[in-house]
Amino acid sequence: MGRVLLAFLVVVLGILAARRLMEAASSPAGRTTEDRHYRPRAAKRDRAQPPPPYNARSVVRRSALGELRDAFTGGPLDADAELFRCAECQSFYSVASVRALATDNGAKCINCGSMHRIAVEVVD
Ligand SMILES: [Zn+2]
Repeated sequence: MGRVLLAFLVVVLGILAARRLMEAASSPAGRTTEDRHYRPRAAKRDRAQPPPPYNARSVVRRSALGELRDAFTGGPLDADAELFRCAECQSFYSVASVRALATDNGAKCINCGSMHRIAVEVVD
């Protein structure tokens, strides 16, 4: 009789422990779990930022350009063609893409919405 009672107790305790584990995993208190993970957030941009000076340039190495893409078309960038860069998020654009943004997107950057672009100077 004592053995049956003991077995019963062990089963009940096991069920209680399992239930507690399940609750801990699914409860909204899982926020502590979320806090343990690093989640990058976009830096807050200052919208009131003045436009960059007219002669502002972004100097980029030709070798680095090979790994970068046009933010509008997703195509490769031609280092020998005229290129532009968003002054805020640094996205690259070809002249054709800048024109397309001007006509179809209110001249706003496809990634951040900024209207400021600077020329890209390619160096070896
Ligand atoms: Zn941008």
